[in-house]
Amino acid sequence: ESLMAQCKLFGKKDLPIKYTSLFINNEFVPSIEGNKFPTFCPATGEKICDVEEGRKADVQKAVLAAKQAFEFNSVWRRTDASQRGRLIQKLARLVERDSEYLSQLETLDNGKPLAESLNDISDTIKCFEYYAGWSDKIEGKTIPVDGDYFAYTHYEPIGIVGQIIPWNFPLLMAAWKLAPALTTGNVVILKLAEQTPLTGLYLASLIKEAGFPPGVVNVIPGYGPTAGAAISEHMEIDKVAFTGSTEVGHLIMQAAGRTNLKNVTLEMGGKSPNIILKDADIDSAVETSQATVFYNQGEICSSGSRTYVQEEIYEEFVRKSVELAMKVKTGDPFHPDTTMGAQVSEEQLMKILEHIESGKKEGAKLECGGSRHGDKGYFLQPTIFSNVQDDMKIAREEIFGPVQSIFKFKTMDEAIERANDTKYGLGGGVFTRDIENAMYVSSRLKTGTVWINCFDVTLANTPFGGYKMSGTGREMGEEGLRQYSEVKTTIMKIAKKIS
Ligand code: ADP
Repeated sequence: ESLMAQCKLFGKKDLPIKYTSLFINNEFVPSIEGNKFPTFCPATGEKICDVEEGRKADVQKAVLAAKQAFEFNSVWRRTDASQRGRLIQKLARLVERDSEYLSQLETLDNGKPLAESLNDISDTIKCFEYYAGWSDKIEGKTIPVDGDYFAYTHYEPIGIVGQIIPWNFPLLMAAWKLAPALTTGNVVILKLAEQTPLTGLYLASLIKEAGFPPGVVNVIPGYGPTAGAAISEHMEIDKVAFTGSTEVGHLIMQAAGRTNLKNVTLEMGGKSPNIILKDADIDSAVETSQATVFYNQGEICSSGSRTYVQEEIYEEFVRKSVELAMKVKTGDPFHPDTTMGAQVSEEQLMKILEHIESGKKEGAKLECGGSRHGDKGYFLQPTIFSNVQDDMKIAREEIFGPVQSIFKFKTMDEAIERANDTKYGLGGGVFTRDIENAMYVSSRLKTGTVWINCFDVTLANTPFGGYKMSGTGREMGEEGLRQYSEVKTTIMKIAKKIS
């Protein structure tokens, strides 16, 4: 079967698209101004359907719903913490129930292989389960202060939270945002990425089915400069959490600064270094270093996109990497043998091709790939450059595609210095069999996460986020709770305290 037929089959016949409008106050509603926008299947370039486009007025409507849901005597504010956990747990079960459908919908809208969509669903479930467990375990302190006082702290929800997510892991990013915000009792306005609105809207239906009260979660599909900006500029939104490009991260923080100084957390781009020392298990290092740039078509913010290899093993590493890249199966993301799907959009594909051209022009050696794959859909050949120099554009800018850049280094200290010479600081990695060297490198990498003999392992219970221009704040783990909580100190006068 051709890719076209396959996508047609899934998109237009076998896979019903049930939700294409805004989700406000537990209802699916059209946009106020009546605008719609198309979403495309990246594997064929065909339009899947039109989706209602949320703009400023719709964000305002969602804020009013959220505000009501957050009033002092609302159902949500009167809900026990344990019950919040139960609702999130229920949501996890509903995602599990519909995981087959959700994974197909994700692949249709995003272009990633079905197996990878299934991994995302499994991580989505784990994320909801993990944060469900926290709801009634978020404890404050009593503090032994001087004088006749009794002092304690406890955590309160921040309030109305705006969340803006990208298109590379549409459903999983929604879970990363929603789960910690809901377990801590906030109300949410979630803006989906315009390229991939479908799974987020379906998730909205499951939120309603799970039993969350109206207005607690509102979901807006729409564009950044309209719906996204309306969120980051809104005077009554108390916090904005964003995942996306560093460029837009600047705009979000500026918008918060211009308006109500809302709390801001940002998770943005990266150019993460991956250092392979000469004593590493070379086959494992080759495989993992490639997986971090090829998985999800390279559309991963923490992708190890700068592979630094020690000179003694450089030639062997490059040769083995190219051999491995030849085994990648690019094509129909619904086919079980496919290991690389389509880039999310033509725009992204073109951007990646521009980077590849600049790599060639600046003198990097193209070892394999480098062109579009096929003439339908937005596929790219898996691409490897060797002989990459630190000042080349492909070494400095995020490519967000399946392009591996391999650098050569002599000493460990040199590798560390070059690894840290970037405005980014999201992830970093080191491959070695020597524990001393592993710790030496990992403690010197200026990144939010360091992986030793692995890469891009992200878990519900470990914090994730960036140093420098890769981000502020941490998502996931216990740290993730703090981003959605205000700590309140209460000091009470008491008579004749004794100790
Ligand atoms: P990418 O370049 O990977 O598409 P973006 O940072 O542009 O990443 O997009 C990430 C999210 O930010 C998307 O939901 C997008 O709509 C949103 N966005 C884009 N521009 C703005 C903006 N000016 N204000 C708020 N959100 C925006």
